[in-house]
Amino acid sequence: MLTAPAYLSPSSIGTFRDCPMKFKFSRIDRLSEPPTWATHVGTFVHEVLEHFYQLEARERTLDSVTALAGERWKASDWETRVKTLIKSEGTIADFKWQAFECMKNLWKVEDPQSTELVGMEHEVDTDIDGVRMKGFIDRFTFDDEGRVIISDYKTGNIPNPRFKSEDEKFFQLTAYALMMQEADQETTSKLELLYLKLGQKHEMTLTPVKLNIARGVIVETKEMVDASCQSGEFVCNVSKLCDWCFFKPQCPAHA
Ligand code: SF4
Repeated sequence: MLTAPAYLSPSSIGTFRDCPMKFKFSRIDRLSEPPTWATHVGTFVHEVLEHFYQLEARERTLDSVTALAGERWKASDWETRVKTLIKSEGTIADFKWQAFECMKNLWKVEDPQSTELVGMEHEVDTDIDGVRMKGFIDRFTFDDEGRVIISDYKTGNIPNPRFKSEDEKFFQLTAYALMMQEADQETTSKLELLYLKLGQKHEMTLTPVKLNIARGVIVETKEMVDASCQSGEFVCNVSKLCDWCFFKPQCPAHA
């Protein structure tokens, strides 16, 4: 019998529902996936924008995000981190260009000088109907009625609606809204996905029905994780996504 993880997160629930075997590799066997070009672009953009939103509103300009990108590049030694990837993916200049395009597109999705964030990288650790849930919310603010608006930066492509429904696309943020409700007694009104690569904002109004669906998904996934750990059987969900899966070489479905 395998030991189930001590807690789940909205993203690990997504992994299990996409492919239980992938969940086993990452969350039970604790095999870590090395960073990729795409994850590095995402992490760098998140880092710069986190610092950017700590500036005074009037200081949030394109010049200041450019300066901050340079500062963070040096402070976190991104040059060394990206260099290991440049042979296969592109040059340092390509990386900087891609990341900066995302930062520049922030002005297409909101006015940074009139957006006041209340929380960034906000940790939530709570219990949903007996399931321990942990994770970090990218950022949140309050609407005019004091209700929370949760948003998430995305630096990749927008999921194809043929493969991911709107509810699936927003599942992680809905789960975070539920976690904030249980942990902080905060009510969330709206969820936002900020697709910076394309400069698009996708929004969803949150309803009690959507929260209840997320609650059901969390509880059901925990039951499935426990059952798999008990039996040792994790389904391989073979799909086109396998070609991008780091664990493919050791996956029994591709042996
Ligand atoms: S290769 Fe495919 S089936 Fe195997 S773990 Fe990865 S996603 Fe799952």
